[in-house]
Amino acid sequence: MPDATTFACPDLTTFTRLDDLGLEATGQLLKPDRAVLKCRVVDPDDWCRRCGCQGVARDTVVRRLAHEPFGWRPTTLLVTVRRYRCSECGHVWRQDTTAAAEPRAKISRGGLAWALVGIVVQHLSMARVAEGLGVAWHTANDAVLAEGHRLLIDDPARLDGVEVLGVDEHCWRHTRRGDKFITVIIDLTPVRDGTGPARLLDMVEGRSKKAFKTWLDEREQTWRDGVQVVAMDGFSGFKTATTEELPEAVSVMDPFYADVPVMPMSWVSVLVGDVRRMVRSA
Ligand SMILES: [Zn+2]
Repeated sequence: MPDATTFACPDLTTFTRLDDLGLEATGQLLKPDRAVLKCRVVDPDDWCRRCGCQGVARDTVVRRLAHEPFGWRPTTLLVTVRRYRCSECGHVWRQDTTAAAEPRAKISRGGLAWALVGIVVQHLSMARVAEGLGVAWHTANDAVLAEGHRLLIDDPARLDGVEVLGVDEHCWRHTRRGDKFITVIIDLTPVRDGTGPARLLDMVEGRSKKAFKTWLDEREQTWRDGVQVVAMDGFSGFKTATTEELPEAVSVMDPFYADVPVMPMSWVSVLVGDVRRMVRSA
């Protein structure tokens, strides 16, 4: 662990977290409204995947990735990727960039992580996230939903031990025929227990009572029985769904809810603390 009082040399690569992506910054182009970082892939990756012989660098291609914004300035990565040709078998390949982004993705892993935190924790709209990344709305929407699901699918045990559920609705997009909503379901158990941050459990389309009710319906009865508290945002449909599906759970909307129709999710830790005291003294 570096000493908190020891300053390292200023370094664009670590400052923009490119080292986590297996990249190194080699140049910067700063404009008032955007930044472009030229990077290279650190690992040479020059051994043939077919026969194991060393390849010869042939040429380079540039991969363009939207990265997390710094100071709200959209930051684009132009990654120079080497192409090699095997001197033995003639196989041609390019440097592996999967640490930086999913294959064919247009947004870096850092950019996606920023987007997910922005939506789930900071309550940013998808339009704001797309603006921060400097990409089209659909590009951001598809990538963020896919990343959310990739993280969820990679963790089959995510539903284990959930006792405190958080349900939060997000206006996903304004359309001519009305707004589209996404319901975000998070595990607040670690927050209540003081063991860690909230965990994203699921994202389901819609804001209606049906969206959350359907999600609860899909869970095992034993799992539903384990849920003690449901914290939620300002939509009465959620409360009805909870009462029907989880009659034993404590509804935590009152007394806060009566006075605060829309409760920001950032208040949840405070609220959960209050509920804990409430439950203890009951
Ligand atoms: Zn080869």
